Amino acid sequence: MSIFLSKDLARLAPYVPGEQPQDRKYVKLNTNESPYSPAPGAVRAAAAQAWELNLYSDPTCAPLKRAAAEFYGLSPANVMAGNGSDENLAHIFRAFLTDKGVAFPDITYGFYPVLCSLLGIEYRTVPLKEDFSLDVSDYAALACPVCIANPNAQTGICLPEEKVEELIAQNEGRLVVVDEAYIDFGGESCVPLIKKYGNLIVVQTMSKSRSLAGARVGFAFACEELVSELEAVRASFNPYNVNRMSMFAAEASLRDRAYFEECTRKTAEVREYTAAELRGMGFAVLPSAANFLLARHAAAGGGDLYLALKARGVLVRHFSDERIKDYIRVSIGSRGQMEQFLGAVRAVLKEVTG
Ligand SMILES: *Cc1c(COP(=O)(O)O)cnc(C)c1O
Repeated sequence: MSIFLSKDLARLAPYVPGEQPQDRKYVKLNTNESPYSPAPGAVRAAAAQAWELNLYSDPTCAPLKRAAAEFYGLSPANVMAGNGSDENLAHIFRAFLTDKGVAFPDITYGFYPVLCSLLGIEYRTVPLKEDFSLDVSDYAALACPVCIANPNAQTGICLPEEKVEELIAQNEGRLVVVDEAYIDFGGESCVPLIKKYGNLIVVQTMSKSRSLAGARVGFAFACEELVSELEAVRASFNPYNVNRMSMFAAEASLRDRAYFEECTRKTAEVREYTAAELRGMGFAVLPSAANFLLARHAAAGGGDLYLALKARGVLVRHFSDERIKDYIRVSIGSRGQMEQFLGAVRAVLKEVTG
């Protein structure tokens, strides 16, 4: 540690993203990216903007916010746009959690505790049930803000919309942040509830269901008052946070409903196919409404399976958290990619079971 580093960062353990190997070609199923290209209009819009990169992007993100608002029948004043939803989460945590702390499930998106340690936010974790489901009554007595991912990260399990509403309505003086990174693959969004509840912020991203992970665009949806407070934080940190190419690509993507629906439908289909194949091989597979599966096999530990698959050119994700260390998480790629994955899994199982 240098003599210059701030003392409160001495023990900062940064978020560790899934590998992005540049050395060889893998069947890459480890970071929940879409296997499909962005919408054709989004590619064209980004390319056209490359010639305008001498100019700053629109600091109000007006056309992009309008497109996102129209998608959900809201006003642009209910939307903040960010450089990925991770950035929006950082602004939300900074704006609303630094003096109150936050509670989230013990198994969820690993970025939440990292943000807390960066910003000096106290957090507590609430254990999911034995089957990894979330029981909203576990949160009823909590006075501090609550953050959940729905569908949940790592498990894929989705909380029905009426349960999310129950959580929000438990205490309207308590903020609830719902991270809907995976909602388009099978859940029902609670964005419409922002018209009814002033204590709700919904976070969404273009990285997964919109095939724009490399563009870095995400949204926060909330009542006007919360959005204007968030906008003040955003403008104090990086007023040109969404770059010009990404802004136009994201707007075009939001306007192409047909392509979006085709991609998410295909992903859900391939997910169900893959889950059935894995169960056929003896895997326990959690019920997922997302673009990934969490699966475990009695004959092969999660870490071993991850390594054996990597050696065969298939990259999945393994987490060392005690409760999910026996599992692997596999992103849902194209049907062809999943056949390669399933073939590699079959070969590995044959090796270990003889
Ligand atoms: C992928 C993911 C994010 C990050 O999305 P970006 O927009 O790419 O920053 C946020 N939350 C969850 C639960 C995710 O899985």
